[in-house]
Amino acid sequence: MTSALVQHRLGEPLHRVLGKPTANKLAKAFGMATVGDLLRHYPRRYETRGELTPLADLEVGAEVTVLAEVRSVSSRRMSRRRGELWEIVVTDGAEDLRLVFFGARHTGRQLQRGQRGLFSGTVRLYDKRRELAHPDFTLLADEQSGPAAEAAVEDWADRPIPVYPAAAGIRSWHLSRWIGTALQWLSGIPGELPDPLPHAVRERHRLPGLAEALHAVHRPADHAEVTRALARLRWEEAFVLQTALVRRRALIRELAATPRTERHDGLLAAFDARLPFELTGGQRRVGTQIREDLARAHPMHRLLQGEVGSGKTVVAVRAMLTVVDAGGQAALLAPTEVLAQQHHRSLCTLLGPLAAAGRLDGDASGTSVALLTGSMGQAARRAALLEAASGQAGIVVGTHALLTEHVEFADLGLVVVDEQHRFGVEQRDALRSKGKSPPHVLVMTATPIPRTVAMTVFGDLDVSTLEELPSGRAPISTHVVPVSEKPHYLDRTWRRIREEIAAGHQAYVVCPRIGDEDPDPGSEAAEDRRPAAAVLEVAPGLTAGPLAGLRTDILHGRLATDAKDAAMGAFTAGDLDVLIATTVIEVGVDVANATVMVVLDADRFGISQLHQLRGRVGRGAAPGLCLLVTEAPAGSPARQRLDAVAATCDGFELARLDLLARREGDVLGAAQSGRRSSLRLLSVIRDADVIAQARAESRAVVDVDPGLNEHPALAAALADLLDDDRAGFLEKA
Ligand code: ADP
Ligand code: MG
Repeated sequence: MTSALVQHRLGEPLHRVLGKPTANKLAKAFGMATVGDLLRHYPRRYETRGELTPLADLEVGAEVTVLAEVRSVSSRRMSRRRGELWEIVVTDGAEDLRLVFFGARHTGRQLQRGQRGLFSGTVRLYDKRRELAHPDFTLLADEQSGPAAEAAVEDWADRPIPVYPAAAGIRSWHLSRWIGTALQWLSGIPGELPDPLPHAVRERHRLPGLAEALHAVHRPADHAEVTRALARLRWEEAFVLQTALVRRRALIRELAATPRTERHDGLLAAFDARLPFELTGGQRRVGTQIREDLARAHPMHRLLQGEVGSGKTVVAVRAMLTVVDAGGQAALLAPTEVLAQQHHRSLCTLLGPLAAAGRLDGDASGTSVALLTGSMGQAARRAALLEAASGQAGIVVGTHALLTEHVEFADLGLVVVDEQHRFGVEQRDALRSKGKSPPHVLVMTATPIPRTVAMTVFGDLDVSTLEELPSGRAPISTHVVPVSEKPHYLDRTWRRIREEIAAGHQAYVVCPRIGDEDPDPGSEAAEDRRPAAAVLEVAPGLTAGPLAGLRTDILHGRLATDAKDAAMGAFTAGDLDVLIATTVIEVGVDVANATVMVVLDADRFGISQLHQLRGRVGRGAAPGLCLLVTEAPAGSPARQRLDAVAATCDGFELARLDLLARREGDVLGAAQSGRRSSLRLLSVIRDADVIAQARAESRAVVDVDPGLNEHPALAAALADLLDDDRAGFLEKA
């Protein structure tokens, strides 16, 4: 994959430069194969010779490398074992750390008072003091005989010391030495190191070249050099990734698709005439964008994002009807069966007689909406498959499994993917093989996401945003119910539910768990916490106690399809007062008469998830109320998250807070185990500016040179990115 040019240098197998044994160790510990892999293993941080590592913050259990000075050395006979125990105390000037060594041939004997060195090991607590047992170490004096010895002495004094992410048996200074060898090998090769960042881009953004940056990041003369090098390498990550996405977008735009031109006397017009409300300005604007896309001879690839309750479904229905009017079919994919069923039900309601073609009560010029889910009975399933294959069904609703199964369409023109933020490039690719020619694709996200995250996760899509909520929508008010501080608030919570129901409304009670055998989602974080509230455990107590006499039912993912359908159907029809459920209701569920939601152990949910959840109430004219029940103490991080949710209804702001609190890998859905991820330095949240700038540059490059013929090093970096497991995040995002 990688071009020969690059292969020659960064692509060089490690064993040719470091020898077999070392190369094998690196392959095993870090999955490294080439010189490039090793040189892209950047320091985790830098120490300064003049400054010792603060020892006060070392966490017990952490694997650490510290720069410290030996304060004292002592040894004594061990009482219970044979031999001597060596105790060496190192210091940062203020705080001490004990190093212990014992056994016949330990290395601690080499240490003397006043020496400075790097010490590596796992921090443990012994006798209430932190210590490292048998740490590995290297003394600073030792390094002076190494490659840096030629450096002037005063210069040497403030050279930052890189500290590398280590692995069992491979210490930071081992990596430093091998990287030094690799850098030297590289500098011996004549000519310039091919750089994925084009010269002009480097000039414009004042970024150093690749060779210089790699040298500076591993062998910096001072901290300013580190900063410059890291900025450049971060830029490169953003640029390579954005180029990959921009190219995908360009390639998709070159495919041929069947144009689906709008008709003014068809189902869309009839549907608009039936709509019980005015479209919002945003719905109209996005609707026009989509109809223009659909009329082109290239596939639409559009992301529709919008605030919870902003009315994305109506936009999707209108797009689907445009395609049906033009003689094609549309598929609507939902992430769960509950949602697929609900979509089917609400489409049939919205369309009324328009969705009942072929039935006596139907409109002869209408179409039919088929439902296709994994757990349907054989007969119903066969009927739906036939409707899809014959073209009798203009719209087919199903779960995402629809893609992987052998479902035939007569003429699939549009695929709408609802409420899905984990619908990656690969699934999008699978879609394209479904029609005779690639269908148009509309993806709707469950959560509003900040612009640069959208650029990264959905960087190959065009983005439309619905910003306003339909007018006349009553606001949702959200309150935290702190049961450990104010236990009687819980009684009030149930009373509020009864009041809403007495006023003719309906309620949700949401629990984090189902309550059969499934493990507590938060259990690995804190073993001492009690398991979170569970539907099956909570429901009997509520119906016998505070909610006695109300019509309640339960809903969770492991119920049989019939039972799910029955519960959801009854709730929608108003035949139930309270639905006690898991997050199966998180997205898409739309019952306008539901006005109150109680979330038990709300701290077990993420910010965006809570925002989604509460979007289920206040969907009609009556104001919505969301009560977040928690035992988390005031001021704790969990409680702060809940306070943030209670304080604002701005989904974009909450999404940003949510992302800040999470690790990068989670954001991208990546298996960012730290092994060989493509984003080593870049943070999609912190580096928003870099991503935006890099995207603009990528577009400029791809516009002029879509094949990247003039940019072989960039093409090679792209091939690398898409090549192996490093592409993982693109698929999972
Ligand atoms: P979401 O964007 O969260 O998927 P929905 O499409 O489910 O939102 O819409 C939420 C509710 O608002 C639905 O009941 C829908 O019928 C209603 N709705 C959509 N558009 C409008 C509008 N322009 N005016 C009034 N109500 C609307
Ligand atoms: Mg929706």
